Amino acid sequence: MVTSLLDLAELELHELEAALDGRGCEKFHARQLYRWIYKRGVTDFAPMTDLSRALRTQLAEEFEVSTPRIVGDDLSIDGTRKFVLELADTRRIEAVFIPDTPSMTFCISTQVGCAMACGFCLTGKMGLVRHLTAGEITGQVRVLAGATGMLDHPFNIVLMGMGEPLHNYDNTMKALRVLHSEHGLAISPRRVTLSTVGIVPGLERLAGEPLMPNLAISLHATTDEQRTELVPPNRKYPLAAILDACRRFPLKQRSRITFEYVMLAGVNDTPEDARRLVKLLAGIRAKVNLIPLNPAPGIPYERPSDERVDRFAQILADRQLTVSVRKSRGRDIRAACGQLIVEGGTKKSAAQQMALLMR
Ligand code: SF4
Repeated sequence: MVTSLLDLAELELHELEAALDGRGCEKFHARQLYRWIYKRGVTDFAPMTDLSRALRTQLAEEFEVSTPRIVGDDLSIDGTRKFVLELADTRRIEAVFIPDTPSMTFCISTQVGCAMACGFCLTGKMGLVRHLTAGEITGQVRVLAGATGMLDHPFNIVLMGMGEPLHNYDNTMKALRVLHSEHGLAISPRRVTLSTVGIVPGLERLAGEPLMPNLAISLHATTDEQRTELVPPNRKYPLAAILDACRRFPLKQRSRITFEYVMLAGVNDTPEDARRLVKLLAGIRAKVNLIPLNPAPGIPYERPSDERVDRFAQILADRQLTVSVRKSRGRDIRAACGQLIVEGGTKKSAAQQMALLMR
């Protein structure tokens, strides 16, 4: 259905103030609206009782707050919840609630599908359908916080769902600014982690952002040959260029860049790989997150044995690298890393995807 209503979910606070200006509203009305939408999770104007009845009627005539609709909610035996959310154009995305104590985390998407085509990732097999708008990115947080009773509690956000956030840079950064607003959810950038395959121009832009999320680089290999096979954008942004951008990245005190390394049996899990990884990360304040693969039909790789993972981790630890092995969450509901996929997306060929990426 075509609608001419202005969508308040897409507006930063100053844009909302401008939209209300000239409609007989004051700036504080924008702040009130932000509080209702983000802090209380209310998107109908009628219950916003600290606004006058006349204003609520006027708002309902001219505005809407579009919000992703929950169409799937699967609970894993480990407490992880995978949500399937339907957008206004009926496209579907996934977002995951990971209730680790002490921190609660929402893993959210930045695109429908993904153009990066990583060889071990089901989302990559979908191809890119479209970018999410800023409102669709923040909408996932609103919906998940409401559904899990977290609106009044601190939580972390990881941009590790479907999509490559730096491939949808402007909308992603706008979403982070909206989520940071003190009149909304007031989420500190320290609670947000942006995970990227390493789009170098995006990393350079990110380095100049006033609101700087934590950075995670999906490395996954220690030679360009192997990485290009696993993470095709490596052809354009090879290891040396990414690590150079990381060395120049203006890290805050005591913070480090996380390097994610999905472990594939017999492919990138040898002691030589571990030693090369140590050398590559020299001079970077780094920590390494090892992610033993979550095998899935259609993915031509296997999970390494625990012994192999431990040996790899030990080599890193012996050389003073901080290393963790990610516990796999939600495998029984296919909510684990690289397993987010929504059937029925418009498929593009690998060549089309790369063309889009290289623009
Ligand atoms: S691993 Fe991330 S960047 Fe790679 S295809 Fe999957 S969603 Fe995209």
